Amino acid sequence: MLPKIDAAVHQTASGTQYLREAGVIMIARPHVDISGIGEFLGGFDPSLGYPVYLDDPTQLPPAELLSKFAGQVCYMSFDAKRTLHAQAAVYFDGRPGKSGTGIKGQKHGSVLEHPSFSFLTYGVSRSLTHELVRHRAGCAYSQLSQRYVGGKMLRFVERPEYVGDPFLHDLFERRIDRAYAEYEGITGHLTELQAAGGRGILSAEAKTELRKKVRQAARSILPNETETVLVVTGNVRAWRHILEMRASEHAETEIRAWAMRVYRCLVQEAPLLFGDYQVVDLPDGTQALSTPYPKV
Ligand SMILES: Cc1cc2nc3c(=O)[nH]c(=O)nc-3n(C[C@H](O)[C@H](O)[C@H](O)COP(=O)(O)OP(=O)(O)OC[C@H]3O[C@@H](n4cnc5c(N)ncnc54)[C@H](O)[C@@H]3O)c2cc1C
Repeated sequence: MLPKIDAAVHQTASGTQYLREAGVIMIARPHVDISGIGEFLGGFDPSLGYPVYLDDPTQLPPAELLSKFAGQVCYMSFDAKRTLHAQAAVYFDGRPGKSGTGIKGQKHGSVLEHPSFSFLTYGVSRSLTHELVRHRAGCAYSQLSQRYVGGKMLRFVERPEYVGDPFLHDLFERRIDRAYAEYEGITGHLTELQAAGGRGILSAEAKTELRKKVRQAARSILPNETETVLVVTGNVRAWRHILEMRASEHAETEIRAWAMRVYRCLVQEAPLLFGDYQVVDLPDGTQALSTPYPKV
């Protein structure tokens, strides 16, 4: 199983469901197999000794292998003098004390665009994803549609600031009970209108079309703290940028907590590509990331 951090589902006394944390489940990582390059390597002057590349005894995680191989293609660094897989940390981070060396230090970030990771994310608010989808380069998103999905799938997200405060927590629970009830009330009313011949705006033959028309109207009353679900894919360069922007101490609290969870999964799968990040404890008890290699 790939790394994941699940999130518990809570409910109010009336049964309205909500979450307090982001669930992040890695669902895809690179699959890399360079064993087919033997004939390619052997096709060059034998004195170059390129076939030794495949004899490297050190196994690298797939994202590291893909990025390192792609980078070594640039200089045709396949011979015995190349940087071995055992020195992959130096390849990416540079020689100790020499910050301008290595892929990250030299900002040769394009080789980090080859490997991608995908996450299923839930337990996040629509305000979080409004910020997240601003990251365009190297990213792909597929997000729950509020025109198609509603009713029993409707859940909410409690902000970190409300969790430990009885007054704010109580307000939150009452607010989402009310939002849920209003949403159900509006969808019920609009569906009845349709059944009774409906107004033009609601007329629709197919059941799915009807539900879509009802929900596209009813969703207007849902708050920013409504939960959303999405699959996010990013290449390593894009993920690094997102982590730097969103796990920064200046980022909004909910998205920072989400980014920290994504980071914990990514660093497990690709320790050499994400291992330069240091976790910083902030005065408010939350955490942020910092790196000596920003915006590779
Ligand atoms: C703390 C914080 C506060 C913010 N406040 C606001 C706000 O008040 N209002 C607001 O509108 N936004 C705000 N943003 C969003 C921010 O302006 C960016 O839109 C968002 O962070 C996406 O980052 P990016 O532009 O680097 O895009 P990404 O898509 O992540 O791009 C990555 C990099 O690729 C390059 N790139 C991408 N697209 C292009 C392009 N079209 N042309 C040239 N180069 C490109 C850039 O170097 C860019 O940094 C905020 C972000 C943060 C982290």
